[in-house]
Amino acid sequence: MTSQEDRPPGAATLLQHHPYRAPEGFAGLQLPVYRASTVLFDNVRQMRERRWRDKSGYTYGLHGTPASFALERRLADIEGARHALLCPSGLSAIALVDLALLRQGDEVLLPCNAYAPGRELAQETLAAWGISTRIYDPLDPASLRERIGANTRLLWLEAPGSVSMEMPDLRALVALAREAGVLTAIDNTWSAGLALRPFELGIDVSMQALTKYQSGGADVLMGAVLVRDDALHDALLDAHMRLGLGVGGDDVGLLLRGLASMPLRYAAHDASARRVAEWLLRRPEVERVLHPALPGSPGHAYWLRDFRGAAGLFSVVLRPEFEPARVDAFVDALRLFGIGYSWGGPMSLAVPYDLRHARAAVSPPVGSQAQAVPAEAHYLVRLNIGLERPEDLIADLEQALRAALSPRTGVA
Ligand SMILES: *Cc1c(COP(=O)(O)O)cnc(C)c1O
Repeated sequence: MTSQEDRPPGAATLLQHHPYRAPEGFAGLQLPVYRASTVLFDNVRQMRERRWRDKSGYTYGLHGTPASFALERRLADIEGARHALLCPSGLSAIALVDLALLRQGDEVLLPCNAYAPGRELAQETLAAWGISTRIYDPLDPASLRERIGANTRLLWLEAPGSVSMEMPDLRALVALAREAGVLTAIDNTWSAGLALRPFELGIDVSMQALTKYQSGGADVLMGAVLVRDDALHDALLDAHMRLGLGVGGDDVGLLLRGLASMPLRYAAHDASARRVAEWLLRRPEVERVLHPALPGSPGHAYWLRDFRGAAGLFSVVLRPEFEPARVDAFVDALRLFGIGYSWGGPMSLAVPYDLRHARAAVSPPVGSQAQAVPAEAHYLVRLNIGLERPEDLIADLEQALRAALSPRTGVA
């Protein structure tokens, strides 16, 4: 009679505890995908002693895997940061910064052209927790100076502004914040961390929507918060852990894969977008092209001074006689541009935005000097230039302008 001990384990057990270990020494170009909630320890003592804070070892899926640590390291190195934290989306990275650094009674300053969901987070959720928001005009440093008060804790910067693409004088805004002892955070998504190095401008926190160029495939959502300062990192790390901001192993693998080609893709998007933007500038249907690298675009001089490249994202304002329905018809007539949110992916995209409503919702600072986009030019089309051949995109824009906006064929 065999004892219980000698009986071979059943398949269901064997498949959880299989003794085979593949030989070591495998070297592919990409890191493997690590999927984990549970991380195993050799014994209880090791479990008790292992520290998660300094990332010297592995404790739990939420606190990192070899691939997520590697991704954080690469992102930090691109921007010259010391620390990076991954979040499940760009918006959750914005939320992490706010929740880690703001307390009841604090005030946060947002530019009037800020990424709208981040503004809503502040004006709705943070407001309910006793954190107030003030809106400033990023093209008018005086409007910022007036709004910095005793309770101002954090200044958000965005370069350029979401959708309306104004480039602020970052150095002037940061100087005002530093003088007043206010922390600064920048939504640095447009630069992908390649075209702007925020820490060299004295900015404290850089935030990235990795969903855009770092992914490059329009198929992953992720965000990152980057800092140089160790104490700031500790505060962000605590909030990151307590909020349970984890990222999936497969998504980390996709991000690492996308990151390898990001500088080349970014340069290609940049070159194509400038060609398309310059072509649009010469069209009679076009009132304005809002692209920081084009002379005449709001804040172009600051782009020249501080940036080493441009993204493939810009906006175009059609002439005022084309009412919103005809602008929409122009977008509908495009064949190579998809209609959809987000950007940084391989396919070109077009989205019409009504900035009049957006601007009214944030009650633009009174008496503000710089009116970047004239009030009548409130309806614009944001273009994400993808990796298609730029000549083909230009031909598509030309046929859509003709189809939707020529006097004979346009919608009534
Ligand atoms: C897309 C975007 C975000 C948010 O990123 P998600 O991953 O979509 O949440 C934040 N800021 C800017 C400027 C963006 O374009």
